[in-house]
Amino acid sequence: MENCLFCKIVNGVIPSSKIYEDDEFLVFHDIQPAAPVHAVMIPKKHIASMNEAQGDDFVLIGKLHQVAQTTAEQLGIAETGYRLINNCGPDGGQTVFHLHFHLLGGAKLGALTG
Ligand code: IMP
Repeated sequence: MENCLFCKIVNGVIPSSKIYEDDEFLVFHDIQPAAPVHAVMIPKKHIASMNEAQGDDFVLIGKLHQVAQTTAEQLGIAETGYRLINNCGPDGGQTVFHLHFHLLGGAKLGALTG
């Protein structure tokens, strides 16, 4: 998608601090970390949000959870624990409309609030 920030990161048009990459996924450090460890995990395929996912997209989303597990291990937060978050749509706090999960850890995180 031409005007999608995360597609530009996938294509290397915008640089990122990469943590993991394969044919289907890219994981990079969030530019504005909300925790000591804050990775953004995306499928390379442009899916605007969780709400737009369909069919095989859910296979990708399942695999992305496996990538989260191995990334948590790689970043040293597997033992202490972490939070995996998807913000969907404006009320969910989504600001970049390319499906992604936040992987947060490295400290005891506060309770989720509305
Ligand atoms: P959202 O609010 O759930 O859509 O999350 C978007 C995330 O992307 C935010 O946490 C931003 O800090 C992060 N972000 C925006 N631009 C960049 C970038 O260029 N590199 C890395 N992370 C970014």
